[in-house]
Amino acid sequence: MDFGKIFIAGRWSEPASKDWIVVENPATREEIARVPACSSEDVDRAVKAASAAFPAWAAMPLEGRMALMERFLEQFRSLEPQLVDITVRELGSPVAFTTKSQVEYQYVRTRSYIDLAPKVPLFEKMAASSVYREPVGVVGCITPWNYPLGQVIQKIVPALLMGNTVVLKPSQHTPLSSYYLTEAIERAGFPEGVFNLVTGRGSEIGTALSTHPLVAMVSFTGSTSGGITVATNALRSVKRVSLELGGKSPYIILPGLKNWDEPIHILFNSIFLNSGQTCTAFSRLLVPRSEASAIEWRLAEISREYTVGDPRDPAVKLGPVSSERQFRKIRSYIEKGIEEGAKLLVGGVPSEPGPKEGWYVHPVIFTGVSNKMTIARDEIFGPVLCVIAYDSAEEAVAIANDTTYGLNAGVYGEKSLALKVARRIEAGNVYVNSSPRDTSAPFGGFKASGIGREGGVYGMLEFTQQKALFDTKL
Ligand code: NAD
Repeated sequence: MDFGKIFIAGRWSEPASKDWIVVENPATREEIARVPACSSEDVDRAVKAASAAFPAWAAMPLEGRMALMERFLEQFRSLEPQLVDITVRELGSPVAFTTKSQVEYQYVRTRSYIDLAPKVPLFEKMAASSVYREPVGVVGCITPWNYPLGQVIQKIVPALLMGNTVVLKPSQHTPLSSYYLTEAIERAGFPEGVFNLVTGRGSEIGTALSTHPLVAMVSFTGSTSGGITVATNALRSVKRVSLELGGKSPYIILPGLKNWDEPIHILFNSIFLNSGQTCTAFSRLLVPRSEASAIEWRLAEISREYTVGDPRDPAVKLGPVSSERQFRKIRSYIEKGIEEGAKLLVGGVPSEPGPKEGWYVHPVIFTGVSNKMTIARDEIFGPVLCVIAYDSAEEAVAIANDTTYGLNAGVYGEKSLALKVARRIEAGNVYVNSSPRDTSAPFGGFKASGIGREGGVYGMLEFTQQKALFDTKL
């Protein structure tokens, strides 16, 4: 793979910029590759290619776009060994988890979008008019590093199926998996300009993309602060904006359980997944005060299953965190938690690695946390769990909702109470007991966790706009 090029108008080409970004393996700190730090000139070329391709692509019947997406899915699957290898190296996520969640789950998502595309209500008859859903135009897709393939799939597949053309800017920290994804698009034979890839820094080309006059919509996934900047820039030229942002998600264990092992595993498979670098991570555990010490004892026991080590080892559950910046940020939050008076039940402040060692952070569980503490309010984005005690279900709901975020939540306990509590939580997704996730459900946030939805029919509607035709007198 030639990581020195970018993909514009159906061809791999040299960037105008002569600047580079070094991509490092966080497990070894070795350089893996260099990608272009593109300039606004490169973005302009990509957007113009996407704009030129738009009319014909939008006019293609849905069946034609679906057939191309089927071919993409076939090519995407055929690149699995390369995708797993590059994701393990650029992100440091463990190989077993990478294979299942970072890569294979993206086939499930793509399949779901293709299957649901014919069900998107693209036409509706009103009392005295007809409403058509039309594509928006050129969509700028800006994605984060924590799920480098997943976040891209969640945007480009629905955007393209609905007849939009795309310019993708993946995270500068994990751009390499997007090269293989682009290769799958190229092999599938999409018309030139329908999909374009540029690489670079958010503050430079992310801004160029979100302010370009020919971009009709910006679909952004990343931090809340980044999303606000992108949305502010995009609104100056009244672009559509969809934002998938951060979270500080609560997980409530209700009183009266005989055994806590299942909820604890659900919780740990969220907060320790991907070394805690998951937007939906259950980072605040709310427990009944009278049962707190017994639950904490099980938390400490079960946390031993969450092994940390070389991400290439299939038995390892947590690899390194993604970069030095992440390591230092997480470490400073652990120090802050101690300073604020929270108690360490598991783990501690990670020690400084040697020059060739990875950025490893072992799971940390804080108990005696108040929801006012910084560690309970900020998105740490690392394997750090805050345990907060409550006295009544009413108080649990109040604590759960006392956050600027509203992305995800979980409730575990007696069914009817769990459902009642779940309905009162201010979050876009709430998991009740051991219910699995669903690709056809809408995904997205309340409050500062975002605007808009991804997934299924809702995720595809996001990339359309309504046109009302007043046609009764024809
Ligand atoms: P980030 O905001 O730093 O960057 C995300 C992307 O935006 C990157 O491609 C970056 O280059 C670009 N960017 C940054 N500033 C920009 C600007 N001013 N203009 C244009 N583009 C800009 O976020 P990150 O550190 O890559 O990702 C972690 C964050 O993403 C966490 O807050 C996490 O919760 C969130 N996230 C949310 C979801 C979700 O679906 N809600 C999913 C994954 C990650």
